[in-house]
Amino acid sequence: ILQSKAAVVTGSTSGIGLAIAKALAREGANVMINGLGDPGQIEATRAGIEAEFGVRALYSGADMTRPPEIAAMVAEAEGAFGRLDVLVNNAGIQYVSPVEEFPPEKWDAILAINLSSAFHTIRAAVPGMKARGFGRIVNIASAHSLVASPFKSAYVAAKHGLVGMTKSVALELATHGVTVNCISPGYVWTPLVESQIPDTMKARNMTKEQVIEEVLLKAQPTKEFVTVDQVAAIAVFLCSDAATQMTGANLSVDGGWTAQ
Ligand code: NAD
Repeated sequence: ILQSKAAVVTGSTSGIGLAIAKALAREGANVMINGLGDPGQIEATRAGIEAEFGVRALYSGADMTRPPEIAAMVAEAEGAFGRLDVLVNNAGIQYVSPVEEFPPEKWDAILAINLSSAFHTIRAAVPGMKARGFGRIVNIASAHSLVASPFKSAYVAAKHGLVGMTKSVALELATHGVTVNCISPGYVWTPLVESQIPDTMKARNMTKEQVIEEVLLKAQPTKEFVTVDQVAAIAVFLCSDAATQMTGANLSVDGGWTAQ
Protein backbone atom coordinates (compact mmCIF):
# COMPACT_ATOMS: atom_id res chain seq x y z
CA ILE A 1 0.00 0.00 0.00
CA LEU A 2 3.02 2.33 0.08
CA GLN A 3 4.60 1.58 -3.32
CA SER A 4 6.66 4.57 -4.51
CA LYS A 5 6.11 6.39 -1.23
CA ALA A 6 8.83 7.53 1.17
CA ALA A 7 9.01 7.55 4.95
CA VAL A 8 11.14 8.85 7.78
CA VAL A 9 10.98 7.05 11.13
CA THR A 10 12.80 8.71 14.01
CA GLY A 11 14.42 6.46 16.61
CA SER A 12 14.26 3.43 14.37
CA THR A 13 17.52 1.68 15.16
CA SER A 14 15.71 -0.43 17.75
CA GLY A 15 12.39 -1.43 19.28
CA ILE A 16 9.09 -0.04 18.01
CA GLY A 17 10.68 2.35 15.49
CA LEU A 18 12.63 -0.43 13.79
CA ALA A 19 9.50 -2.59 13.57
CA ILE A 20 7.61 0.34 12.01
CA ALA A 21 10.40 1.08 9.51
CA LYS A 22 10.40 -2.58 8.44
CA ALA A 23 6.60 -2.70 8.21
CA LEU A 24 6.54 0.42 5.99
CA ALA A 25 9.31 -1.06 3.81
CA ARG A 26 7.32 -4.32 3.57
CA GLU A 27 4.50 -2.21 2.06
CA GLY A 28 6.92 -0.82 -0.52
CA ALA A 29 8.03 2.48 1.01
CA ASN A 30 11.57 3.77 0.78
CA VAL A 31 12.61 4.52 4.34
CA MET A 32 15.06 6.69 6.21
CA ILE A 33 15.96 5.19 9.55
CA ASN A 34 17.39 7.24 12.40
CA GLY A 35 18.71 6.72 15.87
CA LEU A 36 21.68 5.99 18.03
CA GLY A 37 23.75 2.84 18.23
CA ASP A 38 26.74 0.94 16.97
CA PRO A 39 27.58 2.09 13.40
CA GLY A 40 28.25 -1.45 12.18
CA GLN A 41 24.95 -2.72 13.53
CA ILE A 42 23.04 0.24 12.10
CA GLU A 43 24.57 -0.31 8.66
CA ALA A 44 23.62 -4.00 8.86
CA THR A 45 20.05 -2.98 9.74
CA ARG A 46 19.89 -0.48 6.86
CA ALA A 47 21.30 -2.91 4.31
CA GLY A 48 19.05 -5.66 5.69
CA ILE A 49 15.93 -3.58 5.02
CA GLU A 50 17.02 -2.97 1.42
CA ALA A 51 17.80 -6.64 0.87
CA GLU A 52 14.66 -8.00 2.53
CA PHE A 53 12.08 -5.61 1.11
CA GLY A 54 13.63 -4.38 -2.16
CA VAL A 55 13.30 -0.70 -1.25
CA ARG A 56 15.86 2.05 -0.69
CA ALA A 57 16.85 2.52 2.92
CA LEU A 58 18.94 5.43 4.17
CA TYR A 59 20.26 6.23 7.62
CA SER A 60 20.40 9.62 9.30
CA GLY A 61 22.34 10.01 12.52
CA ALA A 62 20.45 13.21 13.40
CA ASP A 63 20.32 13.77 17.15
CA MET A 64 16.71 14.45 18.15
CA THR A 65 17.91 16.99 20.73
CA ARG A 66 19.38 19.18 17.94
CA PRO A 67 16.84 21.09 15.84
CA PRO A 68 19.22 21.93 12.95
CA GLU A 69 20.10 18.23 12.57
CA ILE A 70 16.41 17.33 12.58
CA ALA A 71 15.61 19.80 9.82
CA ALA A 72 18.59 18.55 7.81
CA MET A 73 17.39 14.94 8.18
CA VAL A 74 13.98 15.76 6.73
CA ALA A 75 15.55 17.76 3.89
CA GLU A 76 17.96 14.89 3.15
CA ALA A 77 15.12 12.36 2.96
CA GLU A 78 13.05 14.60 0.70
CA GLY A 79 16.08 15.25 -1.50
CA ALA A 80 17.10 11.60 -1.78
CA PHE A 81 13.62 10.12 -2.28
CA GLY A 82 12.14 13.10 -4.15
CA ARG A 83 9.22 13.15 -1.69
CA LEU A 84 8.24 12.48 1.89
CA ASP A 85 4.82 10.94 2.46
CA VAL A 86 5.08 9.33 5.87
CA LEU A 87 6.65 10.78 8.99
CA VAL A 88 6.75 8.65 12.13
CA ASN A 89 7.87 10.44 15.28
CA ASN A 90 8.97 7.59 17.48
CA ALA A 91 12.27 8.54 19.13
CA GLY A 92 11.88 8.50 22.87
CA ILE A 93 13.69 8.01 26.13
CA GLN A 94 12.56 7.39 29.69
CA TYR A 95 13.86 8.41 33.08
CA VAL A 96 12.34 7.30 36.37
CA SER A 97 12.85 9.35 39.51
CA PRO A 98 10.94 11.13 42.28
CA VAL A 99 10.24 14.65 41.05
CA GLU A 100 12.33 16.36 43.74
CA GLU A 101 15.38 14.37 42.65
CA PHE A 102 14.62 14.53 38.91
CA PRO A 103 17.76 15.90 37.22
CA PRO A 104 16.82 19.04 35.25
CA GLU A 105 19.01 17.92 32.35
CA LYS A 106 16.99 14.68 32.13
CA TRP A 107 13.78 16.70 32.08
CA ASP A 108 15.17 18.81 29.23
CA ALA A 109 16.36 15.76 27.28
CA ILE A 110 13.01 13.96 27.60
CA LEU A 111 11.06 17.04 26.52
CA ALA A 112 13.48 17.56 23.60
CA ILE A 113 13.47 13.97 22.32
CA ASN A 114 9.91 12.85 23.17
CA LEU A 115 8.09 16.09 22.30
CA SER A 116 10.07 18.88 20.65
CA SER A 117 11.72 16.64 18.05
CA ALA A 118 8.25 15.87 16.66
CA PHE A 119 7.58 19.60 16.34
CA HIS A 120 10.84 20.05 14.44
CA THR A 121 10.27 17.12 12.05
CA ILE A 122 6.67 18.17 11.40
CA ARG A 123 7.70 21.77 10.84
CA ALA A 124 10.21 20.61 8.23
CA ALA A 125 7.97 17.99 6.56
CA VAL A 126 4.67 19.85 6.29
CA PRO A 127 5.49 22.24 3.42
CA GLY A 128 6.26 19.32 1.07
CA MET A 129 3.25 17.29 2.24
CA LYS A 130 0.96 20.27 1.69
CA ALA A 131 2.42 20.90 -1.75
CA ARG A 132 1.86 17.27 -2.75
CA GLY A 133 -1.56 17.13 -1.08
CA PHE A 134 -0.72 13.96 0.82
CA GLY A 135 0.89 13.07 4.11
CA ARG A 136 0.67 10.68 7.00
CA ILE A 137 2.14 11.79 10.31
CA VAL A 138 2.15 9.17 13.05
CA ASN A 139 3.32 10.14 16.51
CA ILE A 140 4.17 7.38 18.94
CA ALA A 141 2.79 8.56 22.27
CA SER A 142 1.99 6.16 25.12
CA ALA A 143 -0.69 5.09 27.58
CA HIS A 144 1.13 7.78 29.56
CA SER A 145 -0.40 10.32 27.16
CA LEU A 146 -3.74 9.55 28.83
CA VAL A 147 -2.91 8.52 32.39
CA ALA A 148 0.08 8.95 34.69
CA SER A 149 2.36 6.80 36.80
CA PRO A 150 4.48 8.15 39.63
CA PHE A 151 8.18 8.95 39.09
CA LYS A 152 7.71 9.65 35.37
CA SER A 153 6.91 13.37 35.47
CA ALA A 154 8.91 14.34 32.38
CA TYR A 155 7.77 11.40 30.25
CA VAL A 156 4.09 11.87 31.15
CA ALA A 157 4.32 15.61 30.49
CA ALA A 158 5.98 15.06 27.11
CA LYS A 159 3.49 12.39 25.99
CA HIS A 160 0.45 14.44 27.06
CA GLY A 161 2.01 17.34 25.14
CA LEU A 162 2.53 15.21 22.04
CA VAL A 163 -1.18 14.38 21.92
CA GLY A 164 -2.07 18.05 22.21
CA MET A 165 0.26 19.02 19.39
CA THR A 166 -1.12 16.16 17.27
CA LYS A 167 -4.67 17.49 17.58
CA SER A 168 -3.66 21.04 16.78
CA VAL A 169 -1.62 20.13 13.70
CA ALA A 170 -4.34 17.69 12.55
CA LEU A 171 -6.79 20.59 12.44
CA GLU A 172 -4.35 22.78 10.54
CA LEU A 173 -3.78 20.11 7.90
CA ALA A 174 -7.29 18.68 7.69
CA THR A 175 -8.02 20.09 4.23
CA HIS A 176 -4.59 19.28 2.82
CA GLY A 177 -4.75 15.47 2.61
CA VAL A 178 -2.42 15.17 5.57
CA THR A 179 -3.52 13.18 8.62
CA VAL A 180 -1.85 13.42 12.01
CA ASN A 181 -2.48 10.78 14.65
CA CYS A 182 -1.00 9.23 17.75
CA ILE A 183 -0.58 5.60 18.67
CA SER A 184 -0.50 5.04 22.41
CA PRO A 185 0.98 1.69 23.39
CA GLY A 186 0.88 0.23 26.86
CA TYR A 187 3.94 -1.74 27.88
CA VAL A 188 5.78 -3.10 24.85
CA TRP A 189 8.70 -5.40 25.44
CA THR A 190 11.64 -3.35 24.08
CA PRO A 191 15.05 -2.20 25.32
CA LEU A 192 13.36 0.96 26.68
CA VAL A 193 11.14 -1.06 29.01
CA GLU A 194 13.86 -3.50 29.96
CA SER A 195 16.29 -0.71 30.84
CA GLN A 196 13.90 1.08 33.20
CA ILE A 197 13.48 -2.02 35.37
CA PRO A 198 16.64 -1.39 37.48
CA ASP A 199 15.62 2.22 38.24
CA THR A 200 12.09 1.17 39.14
CA MET A 201 13.53 -1.58 41.36
CA LYS A 202 15.51 1.12 43.16
CA ALA A 203 12.73 3.72 43.30
CA ARG A 204 10.19 1.22 44.64
CA ASN A 205 12.54 -1.15 46.46
CA MET A 206 11.36 -4.18 44.49
CA THR A 207 12.80 -7.27 42.79
CA LYS A 208 12.79 -7.58 38.98
CA GLU A 209 9.87 -10.03 39.10
CA GLN A 210 7.91 -7.67 41.34
CA VAL A 211 8.50 -4.75 38.95
CA ILE A 212 7.27 -6.82 35.97
CA GLU A 213 4.20 -8.21 37.73
CA GLU A 214 3.26 -5.48 40.18
CA VAL A 215 4.27 -2.35 38.24
CA LEU A 216 4.51 -3.00 34.52
CA LEU A 217 1.76 -5.55 33.89
CA LYS A 218 -0.30 -4.49 36.91
CA ALA A 219 -2.02 -1.83 34.83
CA GLN A 220 -2.39 -4.01 31.74
CA PRO A 221 -5.53 -6.14 32.11
CA THR A 222 -4.48 -8.67 29.43
CA LYS A 223 -1.35 -9.37 31.53
CA GLU A 224 0.66 -9.53 28.32
CA PHE A 225 3.18 -7.15 26.80
CA VAL A 226 2.22 -5.50 23.50
CA THR A 227 4.52 -6.57 20.65
CA VAL A 228 6.41 -4.16 18.40
CA ASP A 229 4.75 -5.73 15.36
CA GLN A 230 1.28 -4.99 16.75
CA VAL A 231 2.21 -1.31 17.04
CA ALA A 232 3.75 -1.33 13.55
CA ALA A 233 0.57 -2.81 12.05
CA ILE A 234 -1.44 0.14 13.37
CA ALA A 235 1.06 2.59 11.90
CA VAL A 236 0.67 0.89 8.51
CA PHE A 237 -3.11 1.06 8.84
CA LEU A 238 -2.92 4.81 9.56
CA CYS A 239 -0.97 5.20 6.30
CA SER A 240 -3.62 3.32 4.29
CA ASP A 241 -6.54 4.79 2.33
CA ALA A 242 -8.93 3.24 4.86
CA ALA A 243 -7.63 5.73 7.46
CA THR A 244 -8.08 8.83 5.30
CA GLN A 245 -10.77 10.24 7.61
CA MET A 246 -8.88 9.46 10.81
CA THR A 247 -7.03 12.52 12.01
CA GLY A 248 -6.28 14.02 15.39
CA ALA A 249 -6.92 10.64 16.99
CA ASN A 250 -5.01 8.87 19.73
CA LEU A 251 -5.22 5.11 19.24
CA SER A 252 -4.66 2.98 22.32
CA VAL A 253 -2.97 -0.41 22.01
CA ASP A 254 -2.53 -1.11 25.69
CA GLY A 255 -4.22 -4.39 26.61
CA GLY A 256 -7.10 -2.45 28.16
CA TRP A 257 -4.94 -0.33 30.49
CA THR A 258 -6.65 3.02 29.86
CA ALA A 259 -10.14 1.50 29.87
CA GLN A 260 -9.87 1.29 33.63
P1 NAD B 1 13.93 1.93 22.26
O1 NAD B 1 14.84 2.41 23.34
O2 NAD B 1 14.01 0.51 21.82
O3 NAD B 1 14.09 2.84 20.98
C1 NAD B 1 14.23 4.23 21.07
C2 NAD B 1 14.85 4.74 19.79
O4 NAD B 1 15.05 6.15 19.91
C3 NAD B 1 16.21 4.12 19.49
O5 NAD B 1 16.33 3.91 18.11
C4 NAD B 1 17.18 5.20 19.96
O6 NAD B 1 18.42 5.15 19.31
C5 NAD B 1 16.40 6.43 19.56
N1 NAD B 1 16.89 7.63 20.24
C6 NAD B 1 17.05 7.86 21.57
N2 NAD B 1 17.58 9.08 21.76
C7 NAD B 1 17.74 9.63 20.54
C8 NAD B 1 18.26 10.88 20.07
N3 NAD B 1 18.73 11.81 20.91
N4 NAD B 1 18.28 11.09 18.75
C9 NAD B 1 17.83 10.16 17.87
N5 NAD B 1 17.34 8.97 18.25
C10 NAD B 1 17.30 8.72 19.56
O7 NAD B 1 12.48 2.30 22.77
P2 NAD B 1 11.01 1.84 22.31
O8 NAD B 1 10.41 1.14 23.45
O9 NAD B 1 11.02 1.19 20.98
O10 NAD B 1 10.30 3.26 22.24
C11 NAD B 1 9.95 3.91 21.05
C12 NAD B 1 8.85 4.92 21.34
O11 NAD B 1 7.71 4.23 21.84
C13 NAD B 1 9.22 5.96 22.38
O12 NAD B 1 8.70 7.21 21.99
C14 NAD B 1 8.52 5.45 23.62
O13 NAD B 1 8.22 6.49 24.52
C15 NAD B 1 7.27 4.85 23.02
N6 NAD B 1 6.60 3.88 23.88
C16 NAD B 1 7.24 2.73 24.28
C17 NAD B 1 6.57 1.86 25.09
C18 NAD B 1 7.20 0.59 25.56
O14 NAD B 1 6.60 -0.07 26.43
N7 NAD B 1 8.33 0.18 25.05
C19 NAD B 1 5.27 2.12 25.51
C20 NAD B 1 4.65 3.29 25.08
C21 NAD B 1 5.34 4.15 24.27
